[in-house]
Amino acid sequence: MKKYILTVVALVCFLSGWGQETKPRITIIATGGTIAGIAHTPAENAYTPAQLTVETLIRQIPQITHKASVQGLQLCNIASQHMTPGIWVRLASVVDSLFSGDHCDGVVVTHGTDTMEETAFFLDLVNTHENPVVFTGSMRPSNSPGADGPANLYNAVCLAADPAAGAKGVLVVMNEYIFSASGVTKTHTVNPQAFENPDHGPLGTIRGGNAVFYHPCHERPLPEKRFSIAELVYQDLPRVDIVLSYAGATSLLFDTLVENGTEGIVIAGVGHGNYSRQIENSAKKAVRQGIAVVRATRVLKGGVSSDTENTFEGQVVSRSLSPQKARILLMLALTVFREPAEIQHLFDQYP
Ligand code: ASP
Repeated sequence: MKKYILTVVALVCFLSGWGQETKPRITIIATGGTIAGIAHTPAENAYTPAQLTVETLIRQIPQITHKASVQGLQLCNIASQHMTPGIWVRLASVVDSLFSGDHCDGVVVTHGTDTMEETAFFLDLVNTHENPVVFTGSMRPSNSPGADGPANLYNAVCLAADPAAGAKGVLVVMNEYIFSASGVTKTHTVNPQAFENPDHGPLGTIRGGNAVFYHPCHERPLPEKRFSIAELVYQDLPRVDIVLSYAGATSLLFDTLVENGTEGIVIAGVGHGNYSRQIENSAKKAVRQGIAVVRATRVLKGGVSSDTENTFEGQVVSRSLSPQKARILLMLALTVFREPAEIQHLFDQYP
């Protein structure tokens, strides 16, 4: 009799699903890009990005139901060269509400690859939740032979469903490699192996939905969170521009930006963040006027430290951040303070 009752209870529990592991709830926020793109003909390279909806992207990975319970949210549908700070702020608010309201366990953002590293880094700086957030995209449009979108999206959802991906900051998954938002950059214009962290390499890899993180040391404390998304929704981010240095560069562009009200300039310098005498004179003048100047480099590896040539008081160095990421940190920094020493302290978190 006892055996009979136990069998009936076990059967009821099985049929009702009680005791079964519930799958992580993952929200895919789609923003467009080549992953949602359609080639004009499958044999052609030319294509139109940002055509498919999030529902169609989810239908391309039916296997995902074994790993996660997925819902889609279409934030926008654009090629990422058209991404704007206004959309960054909207995205960050949506992510904040999803986690604050316990509406999901992890988030995947599909994004064009051209500026994916910028949006991912912005979100990394304002997201205060420890739930996994993973960006992905594709280098080939959805209907091209060897389209990489479905595999990237599958891996991204599996990673967002993995508790090991929590509290690591915003992650980027492309072509089976996992990167930190702060270190990753696009290094190839068309090849599916386009993303790298030139100085530190990937954090790990993911294959067939299983993630492996290589180095425990990458689990460094997250940068100080100084930027409240709740406050950013009510203001425009300060305008910060980037000036490229090259042989023969004059200060014309730098001076024009200052005359037109820029609040900060990142110099994408040559070598260890160097620039011409003309740009140097303009940079010194701008700092005296209270405009923030950050010295970065157009070189992929090594970053810029303060022990470089021709430094001057009041100039900030970018440390390991690329010019495009230094710009984002400076935009956020300028919402809170203006003192070069305080701004430098923020950059020092990226050695
Ligand atoms: N131009 C496209 C974009 O960034 C490229 C891509 O997604 O790969 O939206």
